[in-house]
Amino acid sequence: MAGNHAQDATIGVLALQGDFREHAAALKALGAHTVFVRRPHELEQVDALVIPGGESTAMWKLATTAEMFEPVRKRVADGMPAFGTCAGMIMMADRIVDAAAGQQTFGGLPITVRRNAFGRQTESFEEPIAFEGIDGELTGVFIRAPWVEEVDPGVEVLARVAGGPATGRIVAVRQGNLLATSFHPELTSDRRVHEFFVSMVRDAA
Ligand code: GLN
Repeated sequence: MAGNHAQDATIGVLALQGDFREHAAALKALGAHTVFVRRPHELEQVDALVIPGGESTAMWKLATTAEMFEPVRKRVADGMPAFGTCAGMIMMADRIVDAAAGQQTFGGLPITVRRNAFGRQTESFEEPIAFEGIDGELTGVFIRAPWVEEVDPGVEVLARVAGGPATGRIVAVRQGNLLATSFHPELTSDRRVHEFFVSMVRDAA
């Protein structure tokens, strides 16, 4: 298991579907020991897990086929640090609005997420985001993104949309070891959100 330094912790990136390569590149740029996770025995070897952006229904089905659904659900429930972006946020939510028929999530975060919340005319956009715990603004890249419609008590809101029709909508949350964003920090060259997660992993070790 991990030592006292995040450099010693192994951070897995769930590599069934989506932009897992970009997440691995961001983590490696920070010096974190990073591996792809596709099978249950690989999951057992990691101290933390990133759940990438992509398509949550495809990820759910592939996780089920790979016999990964229950193992990931259990590790997250048992307190493994996890960070989900976009589809990954959906996978970490306890409740989804506009889910596909039968769609299941790993859960862990007591939040309600609305899939494809920003509507067709804004399938993809960038928005400056103020993020609690990170100085200055970062660029939020949103692609058919969910927003967080509701959080249970105890969930920290880290970022909200600050302009346009979606003003005030929650787009980043944390509870304990779990972090999720509606947007894709892995698709920018700014590593501060990944750095934030790496320090959560270090604190959990
Ligand atoms: N709309 C996608 C879903 O429901 C998420 C999009 C993304 O991850 N960029 O999973």
